[in-house]
Order: sequence, then structure tokens, then C-alpha cells
Amino acid sequence: MKQKIISLKQKKLKTKPNLVDYEKTYPRFEWQEAEKELDWFPQKKLNAAYNAIDRQAKGSRKNKVALYWEGENGEKEKYTFAELNQLSNKFGNVLKKLGVKRGERVFFFLPRVPELYLGFLGTLKIGAIAGTLFSAFGHQALLDRLKNSGAKVVVTNKELYQRVVKIEKQLPELEKVLLIDAEANKKGKFGLSELILKASDKLNCARMSPSDAAFMLYTSGTTGKPKGVVHCHQAILLEHMTAKWVLDLKEGDVYWVTADPGWVTGIGYGILGNWSNGASSLVYEGRFDPGKWYQLIQDYRVTVWYTAPTAIRMLAAKDSKIVEKYDLSSLRHLASVGEPLNPEAIYWGLKAFGLPFHDNWWQTETGGILIANYPCLPIKPGSMGKPVPGVKAAIINDKGRKLGINKIGNLAIKPPWPSMMKKVWRRPKKYKSYFIKGLARQASTELSRMSERGAKRRVEWYISGDLAYKDKYGYFWFVGRADDVIKTAGERVGPFEVESALVSHPSVAEAAVIGKPDPIRGEIIKAFIALKPLQRGSENLKKAIQTFVKRELAGHAYPREIEFVEKLPKTRSGKIVRRLLKAKELGLPTGDVSTLEEF
Ligand code: ATP
Ligand code: MG
Repeated sequence: MKQKIISLKQKKLKTKPNLVDYEKTYPRFEWQEAEKELDWFPQKKLNAAYNAIDRQAKGSRKNKVALYWEGENGEKEKYTFAELNQLSNKFGNVLKKLGVKRGERVFFFLPRVPELYLGFLGTLKIGAIAGTLFSAFGHQALLDRLKNSGAKVVVTNKELYQRVVKIEKQLPELEKVLLIDAEANKKGKFGLSELILKASDKLNCARMSPSDAAFMLYTSGTTGKPKGVVHCHQAILLEHMTAKWVLDLKEGDVYWVTADPGWVTGIGYGILGNWSNGASSLVYEGRFDPGKWYQLIQDYRVTVWYTAPTAIRMLAAKDSKIVEKYDLSSLRHLASVGEPLNPEAIYWGLKAFGLPFHDNWWQTETGGILIANYPCLPIKPGSMGKPVPGVKAAIINDKGRKLGINKIGNLAIKPPWPSMMKKVWRRPKKYKSYFIKGLARQASTELSRMSERGAKRRVEWYISGDLAYKDKYGYFWFVGRADDVIKTAGERVGPFEVESALVSHPSVAEAAVIGKPDPIRGEIIKAFIALKPLQRGSENLKKAIQTFVKRELAGHAYPREIEFVEKLPKTRSGKIVRRLLKAKELGLPTGDVSTLEEF
């Protein structure tokens, strides 16, 4: 596709970015240097929650609002850093009273209410491991996760508890249930408010080693059974630096990440990295709703907004007049994560808000943003940007050899980085499978120049499971998940470029493509398309869309089959699940569907 660039001038930067010069910073940066940005206890101990909250509460930000909370029914609350500190201390003391020890798992099964945030922090403060769950999970999804994690405590509310009741007997390690809205304490069930009232607000934060576990959560389940990923306290180092560089958080900002803490984005940049930078953060309990979302930006004067492609596409598909009804002039920086961001979504952002969305790439396993577009760099729409300073990314083949410019291969990261996962819970083999050892150098001339010993030197890589390529300017371009790549007539086609071409058609809201077995071509491309409101699917429209894509892409990369659908199957974190479309198309078992929205 034709490549466009959004220059710095077009970006209309309202303030000087935190990362002023990427090209100068990248080669010089050392994590050791960045460690100074955190508060450490003696003997190199730390606590992620202490860095997010306590140090602000002890300093000049103590009376600054940390959390603006708006409930589903319009209830409003706000908490300063000092208040969040006290409440999380109290929560930590409640857990201690219930006998929770270091390393034990405390899981939160709650909507986005203040108790989820202060509880998460309180858990980290006593050295226990906090786990998060989407409140929309059904009992099977709950059972899988609570059983696998061996959670000792579940924190929930009376309504959601009805789902836990159904599976409690199958959870021998679950000892206690904390209900945030119940009064009485009875056999294994505790009312949180009463305990919080009685608990002391003084707590000595547990002094943890950087590699001690802090939190765990399950991957989105886009490609298969979700993995229980465990992260360490030192993850906050990368989360802190990237919240500063990529989200560009500054003292006067009102920051809104739309992600739920059931998804890693809602932890790394909804609890830890945002608060460690002292940013006033908005949490909205309710669901996606274009009018309401714009209203929130207007009412809270949101300046930095971090959201996901699915939300952007859904906002863009809505009547564009809605956006004009609100005063969104407070916005100064927009970012997106979770799925590839179609160029069309960036152009729409420019039209609607006068600002481009800055795409960034990472995974549950990586614990923080690793590749990003920065305020200080031009954006190439469709590219994920460049590696974060301190992170080495490369495109390698299956043997671990680096590939050249513009060559498609595995997107790989050189381990370790501060927020690299510690383990996959109870699945050591799975953890190991992420890493391969490859040759250090690739060019044969270089190899022959190297000494015998040098030639045998091997480098370890973390394999992301995504395919990408790097252009000559060092920008990384997402092609697709390794599982989703289509082989048609001998050519490899990444779903992303076809989907991006499809969504740039004026009638198309969202699109997903799969490879469908074909006797002649190996596979053909089949597209599932959700149309914009008021658009009707017809054979003529199919033809028009096919012609449109042919104009944008190489001849073989157009969808020979198109099916119009009401909506696409998505995970709770808003990712399109192509494997489900494929399974349904081929009449195969649908696999793990525990994380899916109703479909
Ligand atoms: P599972 O691992 O259970 O299949 P998942 O991979 O969707 O689920 P996450 O860890 O939430 O779970 O998502 C990480 C994946 O999301 C990445 O591997 C990548 O495929 C996709 N992704 C995230 N950000 C981007 C981005 N900016 N561009 C393209 N893809 C992205
Ligand atoms: Mg994954």
C-alpha cells in the first residue's frame, strides 16, 4: 500500500514531549540509569505498589487526585494519592489478618470499581500476587483461572459471587471470599467494608526482590487457551519509563486508559505506570458508548487518551456528527494498543480530534510497551513504530537468524527486559517454548571473519508469535499472527494489510480475513465484513469491495469470498478472533471460547 507519513508539524504538539530525541536516546540508554527514577529500599529491594502510590503520597503529590472514578450510573468519586495510599494499606492489613502470605494469590473478580484498584495495590504491598479477571467472565472461564492459579482469596461482589458459588467446590485451594458489598462475616465469607473500617492505615510495604512475583493474569485467548502469565515487581521500571515516553504523561495531565485491569493494559498503564508518573487517572466503570465516552473526555478535560483499535473503529463507524457535539479540545496525545491499528483509523482520528493515534505493540507476556510511536517521531500509519530505548527487537527466521530489511519473519525480542514475564503459571514447558537460541551473526562473510569460538556464539531470542518486518528507517510493521497468515497461490499474505484495505472502503466498519482451503490455490482469502450503520450487504457491494481491494493491493491479495456479518467475534479485550471464524467456516471444533464476548 502507498506509504504516508504524518510529520511532526502535522502532529501539532501542544507541549514538549518527555522523550525529546528518540534517535539520540536509543543508543545511549541503559536501564541501570533509569533505575534512578524509582524509589528503592536498602539492598536493592523495591515494591511496585510503593512506587505507584506511596512515594507520591509521601511527597508533593499527596493531595493531588490520583483517581477520578465514575460509576455506571453516573456516581462520581475521587481519591487523592494520600487516600489511595491509606486505603491500600488498610486492604493489605485486611489480607494479612486473613492469613495471606507472600507469594499467595489474591484474585479480583470485580467491575472497574475503586476497590479493584486499591485492592490490587494492597495485595502487592504485602508481597502477595494480585490476579485480575474480567467481571464478564462466566463460570467456566473463572474455574479455569482460579483453579490453575490456586487462588487463596477471591475479592468480588454479591452479584458476581453467584458465579463463584457454582464452582467453589472444585477449588480446593480457595479459602476465603471477600465481598466488597456485604456486611456480615460468616464461614469463609467476609464483608470488606467492615474489615477495612477496623484495619489500620499504616503498613510497612513488603521489600521485594526485583524478580519477586507481583501480579499475574491470563492472556486474551485470541489464539487458543489463555496462559497464566506472572510478572515481577521490577516490571514497573519499564512501565514507568514507557508511560513517560510513549504516553507522554506529565504533571498536569488527566489521563484515561479505557482498558479493564482484566487485560494487561489496564494494569501496566491503568495502575502501575500511570500512577508511578503521578498522573491523575480517570476510571469509568461503564461499557463502551460513543456519546458517553466523548462526554467523559469533555467533563474531565482528558488530555492523554490510551485506547484500542476496536474502540477507534467502532467510534469511527458511528455517525461522525456525534463527535462534533462535544468539546474535546483538552486532548493532546492519543495512543492505541491491542491489535494492529489500521491507517484508516489514524486518518479518522486526525479528522475527528485533530490528532493522530500513536500505535504501540506489546503482549501480556512482555509486561509493557516494547515497540511504539512516540510524540517526537513522525508516524507512518500502519507501522507499530520503533523499539523502546533499552529494548532490542529484530526480525528473525525460525532458526534464529536475523532477516534483512523488509523481509517478513518472527518478531523477536532480546531477553531480558525489565518487564519480561517471570513464568507461565504451572506450565514451565510453555514458558520455555517462547525462547530460542540462534546464531549471533547472519552474513556468511562475517561468519568466515569470525573466530571459531565467535562463530559458535549463540544469542537467545524471545519469539512473540507475531510476524512483522522492519523497514530501512527502523520502523516495524505488523503482518499478522503466525497462526493467521494466509498462503494463497504460493504467496504469504498477512491478514492485516487485507483488513486495512477493506476498512478503508467507505461502507466497511470492521473486517477479518482467513485462509480457506482451496484445491487450486492452497488457500483463498475469505473476508468477514461488518458494515457501517445503514449499509446493506449485496452482491454488487461485494464486487465493489473486491475491486476496491484489488486497486490497493497486489492482485492475489483480494478476498475471493466475502460474507457480511452483524459483528465479528472478539475477546474481552476487544481482539478479533480469526481462529473462531476459521473453525466455523471449516466445521471444526471451536476450541477455548471462555474469553469471548457473546457471539
Ligand atoms: P493469546 O496469547 O491468549 O492468544 P493475545 O495474544 O491476544 O491472546 P495479548 O497478550 O492481550 O493476548 O495480546 C498480545 C497480542 O496482541 C500481540 O501478540 C499481537 O498479536 C497483538 N497486538 C498488540 N498490540 C498490537 C499492535 N500495536 N499491532 C499489532 N498487533 C498488536
Ligand atoms: Mg498472545
